[in-house]
Formats: sequence, C-alpha cells, structure tokens
Amino acid sequence: MSDSDHTFPAPVLEPLDARLADLVALYEDLHRHPELAFEETRTAAEVARRLTGHGYDVTTGIGVTGVTGVLRNGPGPVVLLRADMDALPVTEDSGLPYASTVPGRMHACGHDVHVTCLLGAADLLAAGRAHWSGTLVVLFQPAEEAGSGARRMLDDGLYSKGLVPTPDAVLAQHVAPFGAGLIAYCPGACMAAADSLRITFHGTGGHGSRPESTVDPVLMAAAFVQRVQSVVAREIAAKDQAVVTVGSFHAGDSANVIPDRAVVQLSVRSFDPHVRTAVLAAIDRIARAEATASGAEREPETEALDSFPVTVNDADLLRDVNEGFTRLFGPERVFAYEPATGSEDAGLLATAAGAPLYYWWLGGWDPEAFRTALAAGRLAQDIPSNHSPHFVPVVRPTLTMGVQALTAAALTRLDTP
Ligand SMILES: [Zn+2]
Ligand SMILES: [Zn+2]
Repeated sequence: MSDSDHTFPAPVLEPLDARLADLVALYEDLHRHPELAFEETRTAAEVARRLTGHGYDVTTGIGVTGVTGVLRNGPGPVVLLRADMDALPVTEDSGLPYASTVPGRMHACGHDVHVTCLLGAADLLAAGRAHWSGTLVVLFQPAEEAGSGARRMLDDGLYSKGLVPTPDAVLAQHVAPFGAGLIAYCPGACMAAADSLRITFHGTGGHGSRPESTVDPVLMAAAFVQRVQSVVAREIAAKDQAVVTVGSFHAGDSANVIPDRAVVQLSVRSFDPHVRTAVLAAIDRIARAEATASGAEREPETEALDSFPVTVNDADLLRDVNEGFTRLFGPERVFAYEPATGSEDAGLLATAAGAPLYYWWLGGWDPEAFRTALAAGRLAQDIPSNHSPHFVPVVRPTLTMGVQALTAAALTRLDTP
C-alpha cells in the first residue's frame, strides 16, 4: 500500500510482508530449476502442492503439465488469473547466486516471476476470502514460448469438460525490462499475432534436360515467394500493419534433377484479427494459384506450425483494473505504452470463454539502472531484453508489485462489499 487512505484491497494484501521471504525463496528455487515447454513437471508439482495447501480444488496434467486451482467462495463472478511456467533453451550468464543449475536452460523470460506472483496472489486471496465472493480460478499453463500451451489446455477440455468454470474475466501479467515498481499497459491490441506456416508445393520430378516432361516445383515456389510479397504492399491498407517473411526455402539436391516438391516456411505478424485473416487467406490463395498456373496435379499443402493470436485488451476491464492500480500504487506508477511486436497466447483463454482480457506489463529492472540507461540513451545496450542470458529481474520490488497487482486486479472483478 502506498497510501493508507486507500483501503480497497488493504485487508487482503496485509499478510504479504510476512509471506515475502517464502516467496523470494520460491522464486530463487524456480529460477535455479528452469524447465522447457511441456516439461514443467517439477514446477507443476510445486504449484499443485501449494495450491492444495491454500485450499484450492486442484487439477493437474491439463495440456500435459498445466495446473489449475479453483476456489469457490459464494455467489459472484468467475475470475481467472493466469501465469505461464516454461523456460527457454538459453544458457544463463547472470552470475547470480541463484542462477540456473541446468546447462542450456534458463528462465530468461521471467515466467518464474509469473508463477511466484500468482502463487502469492492465490495465497492472499484464499486467506482473505472473507473480503470477497465469487469464484477464483488460478491457471498455470505450460509452453507459452512454444505458442501452444494455452491451446493444449483448451483442447484437453479446460472449459468444454468443465475442468474449471468458464471465467467472466481473464487477467495476466508479464515482467518486462523497465523499472521495477511500475506497471505499463496498452489499450486494445497490445501484442502482435504471429503465425508460422509451412507450404509444400507438389510438382512432377524428372531429368533436368527435359523440363517439358515435368511440373517444376522450384519455379512454382519461386513465383509464390515473389508474388506473396505483394500481399502487404497491395492488399493491406496503409493504416494497417502486417509482415510476411519467407524464412526458409528448400527444394532438390542436384543440378540436373527437377525435384518433385518445394517447401517454404513463412512468418506472418499482424495486429488486427481482420488483417491477419486477410493475409493468411491471400497467402493460401496465391499458393494455390501458382500451383494451378504451373499445371500441378496436386494442390499445395499448408500447415500451421504455431500460432499466437493478437493479444487484445478489453477497454472496460482495463479501465476498471487500472483504477484499482492507480488507487493502490499511485497514478505515477501506472503508464500507457505502445503495442509490443512480441506475441502471447494468454488471449486464447479469454477468447475461448467469450470473456474480456486484460494483460499488463510489470516492471522488473533495477529502477536506478533503468533511469541511468534511459538518461544516457542506452536502453537497448544496457538493459537486457526478455530472452537474453542476462535477463534477471530484481527480486524486490518486482515480486511484491506482481503479487499486489494480480490480487488487486482479481478483486476489481470479484464481488467485494
Ligand atoms: Zn518469452
Ligand atoms: Zn514470456
């Protein structure tokens, strides 16, 4: 609490000071033991153990390693708080006493912060259940970095089989390389959609000296690569944004053999669901048209390798939660920021429930170092970004702020007196 006049979540947050040493120990333990996407078994076991201790109905193994806890606390809305658990194939170079003990694995995106803060908030909201009513769902998902963790939990029946009640609001946060003690938000589309595709063009192979007896997939795919660059230039309005990149092209092994297939891989980024749909449809149309133009007997095949939706913040939910944040932290600590070009799958949990999402960024860097770098115009050089082997958020006040933010955000939507 920064201001004792503001009583809003004070009774619920009060035990946090006494819990902090345990949360710091938990965070350092998670940081020492990073686990990759869908391998988060140790983390999931600790999450389940703690949630059970706090009185939650716990389900494990959703989407391989996902864990949920449900706390039914009388009539009222269902609020879902989400954290991701996976680490990255990065070798830590922080020199910290609690650095990763697993070679080639690191919590380099701060998902250990997310797990710790959500366990802290789950504890406070359970202990303070006399101060609110409704149903709280805490969800720990695997494989955010792989782009498939939330999807796998949904496919396993998260809502459709009633593993958790369908939420009325979904709330999540991500630690980011700006000053700890600050919260940043972006109204509307706050993170880009990212789609990776693999397209296989089928031709008819043959001798390099007799192209007339073949359907050449190299020419077919090369024409596709050229023409697909016209999508953003000629089909997307100047006010909209999209990126189409062909990052991989493979066909044939020999100079005098026309192969029977060519395989290209593309990355597509967009901020508007309509733009995304239009770009993906245009890519598919051009691939088929080039195959037809070449006289191919088989249509090309398009596979979605991974897919992150646009992360879209709901205007009403953002406003209400931010009112809570500004009352709790003071307006100077809550600021608006631009959309990020990174991508996230938290939005799927909201879309699948037909519920609004609010996803905010939690400052995690030493405030003094951040101010110094900002003043020197050296943010990019001096402040490591997520996924860097040096990305290690400061423990205080990041953890405190993250627990308070999740708790306050949940109480915004739960019924309170
Ligand atoms: Zn990441
Ligand atoms: Zn992340």
